[in-house]
Amino acid sequence: MDKRIETICVQGGYEPGNGEPRQLPIIQSTTFKYDTSEHMAKLFDLEENGYFYSRLQNPTVDMVAKKICQLEGGSAAMLTSSGQAANFFAVFNIATAGDHVVASSTIYGGTFNLFHVTMRKMGVEFTFVKPDCSDEELEAAFRPNTKAVFGETIANPAVIVFDIERFAKAAHRHGVPLIVDNTFATPINCRPFEWGADIVTHSTTKYMDGHGAALGGAIVDAGKFDWMAHADKFPGLTTPDDSYHGVVYAQRFGTEGAFITKATAQLMRDFGSMQSPQNAYYLNLGLESLALRMERHCANAQRMAEFLLGHDAVSWVTYCGLPGDKCYELGRKYLPKGSCGVLSFGVKGGRKAAEEFMKKLKTIAIETHVADTRSCCLHPASATHRQMNDRELEEAGVKPELIRLSVGIENVDDLIADVKQALDGLSK
Ligand SMILES: *Cc1c(COP(=O)(O)O)cnc(C)c1O
Repeated sequence: MDKRIETICVQGGYEPGNGEPRQLPIIQSTTFKYDTSEHMAKLFDLEENGYFYSRLQNPTVDMVAKKICQLEGGSAAMLTSSGQAANFFAVFNIATAGDHVVASSTIYGGTFNLFHVTMRKMGVEFTFVKPDCSDEELEAAFRPNTKAVFGETIANPAVIVFDIERFAKAAHRHGVPLIVDNTFATPINCRPFEWGADIVTHSTTKYMDGHGAALGGAIVDAGKFDWMAHADKFPGLTTPDDSYHGVVYAQRFGTEGAFITKATAQLMRDFGSMQSPQNAYYLNLGLESLALRMERHCANAQRMAEFLLGHDAVSWVTYCGLPGDKCYELGRKYLPKGSCGVLSFGVKGGRKAAEEFMKKLKTIAIETHVADTRSCCLHPASATHRQMNDRELEEAGVKPELIRLSVGIENVDDLIADVKQALDGLSK
């Protein structure tokens, strides 16, 4: 029987047998013992499933990957050491030197840097398109060597909603998969596979862990993209891999297993960005309460957004739960239960007023992190983007007065009281 998502959060992935531990066991072992070399050889040749070295696979890590796979409704999944590693593997698994990728321009700064600087050095070209670009602009971004399309369900930090269905259709018209970073929405609020996405990635460091305790990432495959139907575009999946005696991933593992098996067998083997079993354990604890926490994050953020909108010292608020927000309709379509706890707003009086506001906060902390239980905020103009002047900030799409607020799960009246005293106390 198909379980509902709250039940999967608690019970998914690990299913103990009779007399086995109720809590997920941490298999803190780098290596695994076998009775014969012949048996081990079968594992090395991908002829049999099993564990031999934790740089490739570990049982604790796999059980948590399985839970995330179930939450997203996918066919296979893997964990990585960070969200950065997840996005790198997801793209590099199908796009290598000489290839091209279309990506949304409003994505996390770390991902933008990975694509625009580091992967470019590796020979992969990217074309960035605005998420609200015209159909003509989107079509024009594709090239014969395009191998994937990439976007974020809710962009960090722009909190703009990605039109998944539209971008999935465009990707499929060109015979390539859509990769969606679902970090901010989490599968509780949006399951991109239901809208046509083919691969989902996560920085589990954010809401999934949810407590600011452990870095991590995840990749999930919907198992629906037909690699063999576009065999010439994806030779890595459709032609023999000599390092495993000529296995052809798309044939041996089918549409359901090819992508994740290749990423594990090649990229995890060679780059070793493995999540530790200990971190996977923390992640699993966080996942148990994910559905509950997301509900509270969204309810608190909605209240906060409404409060901010009504305050004299605030010039604008961006949160797709607000009627009138430019992503309100997309939010209703893709995020009917709520978006996430992150919103951004501007204070009247520009950079100076924003700095003063931040100083006055008492309950809400100043942090670069987002998306965990504790409320925190950041003023990019005086932190992450401090080297830029007002004109340069404007060009980068970061207004000098912009404050990014990650609303936690504390009592919202305490959070609103803190924001209110800081806003009321601003010098006129
Ligand atoms: C934080 C973040 C990442 C990077 O994840 P790390 O776990 O910090 O490596 C990627 N995508 C999004 C949307 C993020 O918010």
